[in-house]
Amino acid sequence: MADTIFDKIIKKEIPADIIYETDEVLAFNDISPQAPFHCLIIPKKAIATINDIQPEDAQLIGQLYLAAAEIAKQQGVAENGYRVVMNCNKDGGQSVYHIHLHMLAGKTLGWPPYSDKVKQI
Ligand code: AMP
Repeated sequence: MADTIFDKIIKKEIPADIIYETDEVLAFNDISPQAPFHCLIIPKKAIATINDIQPEDAQLIGQLYLAAAEIAKQQGVAENGYRVVMNCNKDGGQSVYHIHLHMLAGKTLGWPPYSDKVKQI
């Protein structure tokens, strides 16, 4: 599979605003923030989508959430709260095919309205 932009960030071939790094996980600020604080938490292992996660990746996926909790403390948003979300494929709004948690914080977050309901009746 061809390198995604996130592989290039992992290899430090292109710059990113890195805020957290371990041997297996990297987090950096999103280039197009959707909240006052918006970072991406990614495994260094290339996994394209949630559908491609294997049982042996379970611990790695757990590390993404442990990283989120650590970053929340570092950023001072743990108590007020935040949202983590991972998009999958077209309908989920995924644009980079290297799994990543979006972490959003710094304001009270809304939830998108489900306006398609009317069409289904
Ligand atoms: P998704 O649409 O869920 O795949 O999310 C991809 C995210 O990557 C988007 O929020 C983009 O703004 C973000 N993004 C793309 N390129 C970069 C980059 N070079 N540095 C930081 N964030 C990026």
